[in-house]
Amino acid sequence: MSTVPEMFGSNVFDERVMKARLSEKTYKALKQTIRKGQPLDPSIANAVASAMRDWAVEKGATHYTHWFQPLTGITAEKHDSFISPSPDGGVIMEFSGKELIKGEPDASSFPSGGIRATFEARGYTAWDPTSFAFIKGKTLCIPTAFCAYSGESLDKKTPLLRSMEAMNVQALRVLKLFGNEDVKRVTTSVGPEQEYFLIDREMYDKRPDLIFTGRTLFGAKPPKGQELDDHYFGVIKPRVQAFMNELNEELWKLGVLAKTEHNEVAPAQHELAPIYATTNVAADHNQLTMELMQTIAGRHGMVCLLHEKPFAGVNGSGKHNNWSIATDTGVNLLSPGDTPYENAQFLLFLVAVIKAVDDYQDLLRFSVASAGNDHRLGANEAPPAVISIFLGDELNGILEAIKNDTPYMGVEKSVMKLGVDTLPKFTIDTTDRNRTSPFAFTGNKFEFRMVGSSESISECNVILNGATAQVLEEFADILEKADDFESALHDLIKQTIIDHANIVFNGDGYDDSWIKVATEERGLKNYRTTPDVIPTILADKNIKMLTHQKIYSEVELRARHDIAYGSYVRVLNIEAGTMVDMVRKLILPAIQEYSADVASEAVSKKDLVPTLSCKAETKLVEKLSGLADIIDERCDVLEKSIVDIAGIDSEKEIAETFRDTIIPQMNELRAAVDEAEVITSREYWPYPSYGELLFGLY
Ligand code: ADP
Ligand code: MG
Repeated sequence: MSTVPEMFGSNVFDERVMKARLSEKTYKALKQTIRKGQPLDPSIANAVASAMRDWAVEKGATHYTHWFQPLTGITAEKHDSFISPSPDGGVIMEFSGKELIKGEPDASSFPSGGIRATFEARGYTAWDPTSFAFIKGKTLCIPTAFCAYSGESLDKKTPLLRSMEAMNVQALRVLKLFGNEDVKRVTTSVGPEQEYFLIDREMYDKRPDLIFTGRTLFGAKPPKGQELDDHYFGVIKPRVQAFMNELNEELWKLGVLAKTEHNEVAPAQHELAPIYATTNVAADHNQLTMELMQTIAGRHGMVCLLHEKPFAGVNGSGKHNNWSIATDTGVNLLSPGDTPYENAQFLLFLVAVIKAVDDYQDLLRFSVASAGNDHRLGANEAPPAVISIFLGDELNGILEAIKNDTPYMGVEKSVMKLGVDTLPKFTIDTTDRNRTSPFAFTGNKFEFRMVGSSESISECNVILNGATAQVLEEFADILEKADDFESALHDLIKQTIIDHANIVFNGDGYDDSWIKVATEERGLKNYRTTPDVIPTILADKNIKMLTHQKIYSEVELRARHDIAYGSYVRVLNIEAGTMVDMVRKLILPAIQEYSADVASEAVSKKDLVPTLSCKAETKLVEKLSGLADIIDERCDVLEKSIVDIAGIDSEKEIAETFRDTIIPQMNELRAAVDEAEVITSREYWPYPSYGELLFGLY
């Protein structure tokens, strides 16, 4: 067996391979392209493509694909083999520069929100050379962006790359003002911590709800949940460990820096965290991680659930998006520096992020909105749907001091003289963590905790980058014009703190009273559900910012608005339909069969011994028959609602009907079914219980 360093990146066309296999001229040109984040020049594409093909074929690859992330949320690939006929009746393996740079998949079945009329169904994919090509199975995968023929983006990667460019441009302007002439490029980095559940495959196969929707639509609470906290960081079961070992190895081969693995709070819940990487690479790697989690679980007789809330009553799964801004000279701009001047620069970036998050709360909330995540946000173990920022005591103290022109008593009890040129050096206690905040400063990065476990991290990073770029642009506009840079800087930082103090909250985000204070006293936005927040993407200020930063065109934004409604409606349609199906085909028949058997048993007992009361049986049959009636009625109601919405034209209206009427009906139906589950014999109940699913993996 090979060692980890030997294994790491062995399936990636990374710099080591490029250097070994490309001519010096081609290698330099490619590196230049990568460093500047530019598209590949066709003149070097052929050389790169043939080196890639030779490398891939030697490793057993037979096909190549342009690997992309359409707006469905999963990755897409269409495989083409390298073969090309040769005159002697055989084949040769071919891959041209043209095929490397650009693909033209028929894209008519990917969501486009009306961007692409079907008569021009083709889209095109273009290599993102900043993300290395890799081999998965027998296929060379080329990470690409996906656009309509008219140029509008149809994927999650294009806006992400555009947002990174916007950040680069504006951050460089600000850095210049601080005299950082050596910095040529600024990028954002992300380390996404990924939560997931593992359950037994045979049990999964017996639950149509899991198969069709990824979550349980029914299920009575088990006698034991997560109240003992005995799963978090607990000893990993051998079967799960075997899965994790294989997952790590496969990820390492693909150059993914899989680092941390542990059991999470809920039973059967786990987490994997990689070491952070440049945002677009981190997004690609996170997609690969989710995909491999699912395929590798299958090899171990398990199923990996990435849904945000697979089980009611225990923790859901999220993704913590750890985000920072760094220069190509290796400086983390969200890290307090060593000198007063560096600290002033840090504070400017810090308040820029605070302002960005405050100004664009709605977009950030939109970026994580999905039917699945609606179950999680605001439930007691996940961040609320209200966005606030946690800074920690020390940093908060500094901002307060600047805001109020009062001396700051730091941990070292030194008095801070005001004026940004004399800000003291301070340290950030990284252990000072607030786990209940949706957006927490954790020493040298921000951790955005609202992202759902199944969601792409691209969208929230588009907004983080874009909104921060917008604020940095506004800052640069002011500071570039200032006669006295230092006092302008001080005033700007101070004013920004004053204007955005409302979003800073260092208390317990899980506390109900916070939501009241946040919305009523502080005026923060509380978009509880996906349909609540979707319209905000088309608010004037948001269209203005996103088009100004050249991240989305207005057409693209309108498309995404429509797609968001469409996805929400489709998910709920499937869930409601699955519930009806399970009730009619599995649940009611089981209740009827069980109560009939209990009844006939009681009758035959009475036949034998007429003095028996058979009270328990009678009570049970009565209770179950009563519940069966209720379940049947509620199922009728739900069924009628599903039929009725088919008559509504607008997806917005359908989405709101789901939110306001149908989801409550689904909850009612579930409540009655779960009540029946508790009193029905396990042998008759048609699917495995929560207890079996959550504790049944050995
Ligand atoms: P936890 O939040 O579980 O305590 P850590 O803070 O150690 O864990 O790290 C969580 C994630 O944050 C990891 O993926 C790590 O690589 C990432 N991370 C650390 N530093 C940075 C940074 N400067 N920028 C982005 N992500 C980072
Ligand atoms: Mg974390």
